[in-house]
Amino acid sequence: MQRRKYMLTLTELKDLLATPQKIVITTHHKPDGDAMGSSLGLYAYLIQKGHHVKVISPTDYPVFLHWLPNNSDVMIFTEEQEKSAKLVNEASLIFCLDFNTLSRINELGELVRFAEAKKIMIDHHLEPEDFDDYRHWNINACAAAQLVYDFIINELNDGQFINKDVATCLYTGIMTDSASFRFASATSEVYRIAANLIDLGAEHDKIHQLVYDNSSEDRLRFLGYCLSNKLEVLRPFNTAIITVTHEELARYNSGTGDTEGVVNYALSINGIRLAALIVERKDKVKLSLRSTGDFPANEICKKYFNGGGHRNAAGGAAEKPLKDVVDQFKSILLEYKNQLLA
Ligand code: 5GP
Ligand code: MN
Repeated sequence: MQRRKYMLTLTELKDLLATPQKIVITTHHKPDGDAMGSSLGLYAYLIQKGHHVKVISPTDYPVFLHWLPNNSDVMIFTEEQEKSAKLVNEASLIFCLDFNTLSRINELGELVRFAEAKKIMIDHHLEPEDFDDYRHWNINACAAAQLVYDFIINELNDGQFINKDVATCLYTGIMTDSASFRFASATSEVYRIAANLIDLGAEHDKIHQLVYDNSSEDRLRFLGYCLSNKLEVLRPFNTAIITVTHEELARYNSGTGDTEGVVNYALSINGIRLAALIVERKDKVKLSLRSTGDFPANEICKKYFNGGGHRNAAGGAAEKPLKDVVDQFKSILLEYKNQLLA
């Protein structure tokens, strides 16, 4: 990968962090548990060191993450654009967590690109864009929160600052991105990290309950409706699709995050290798893909839907009618038929 000539060294970064800095932490739009967990975990660490820190999320995020420690300090860009821009422009350091291309943070992206601040990327996605000055990046990490843990302990040698708040946030990130420690990415090392975080104050039973047993009645009924009325199983392609219209979202008062996890039910059918949730949003149609084994869901998203992600969990979008997107998706399956049946 081509890198700019000058990169911040770890020693230079540590020197900067030795005195109070104005710091912005940001993460991808529509943040999930790892995005918010890693961001607020790093936040809870940095404020102990006397820095002036703000977490800026490009957009709102699910209510099941609003209980996270220091959530009330998060600024939402779409709600406070001027204040957010001022913070970005005045920051000396900007941490970019759980994303690696500036398009993932919407309009904030160009503000970050042209900001004077040194930019630190902590991320586990493929193909990082070259906008950062320091990079703690590993695609084998199960979560950005795991990399924040590693960054604090092994790069900054500051393990003693992982207090209950830091531990709670980082545990949440690791738990959500590994689907409760069940993906292959949840290695024995990840379990050891989780055990350490529990020792440091993360209450794993409460965290699990707050994240997963926190649905509204509408959300659960919406899931039931999707499974009984909207699920289409395409056996010749080992693929299952759930399609949701804007009207259906409104009917069930679906809020941010309420469709999260729905696609996994489609993937849980025996023999299914690829699952897609295709949702009609206000200005575009959003796709969420999940796959098993070595089937590259991210390749489809990158090639056809201006997106990307991990091999087994990827997403993208299209600006055309829902029906056209569904038809296009089905026609793409032909190209992948051999891999889907392998
Ligand atoms: P989800 O289906 O939960 O929205 O996203 C799953 C994964 O796909 C995310 O962790 C992210 O890595 C990736 N992803 C989702 N949407 C996009 C997108 O529009 N662009 C890119 N590059 N990646 C995406
Ligand atoms: Mn992540």
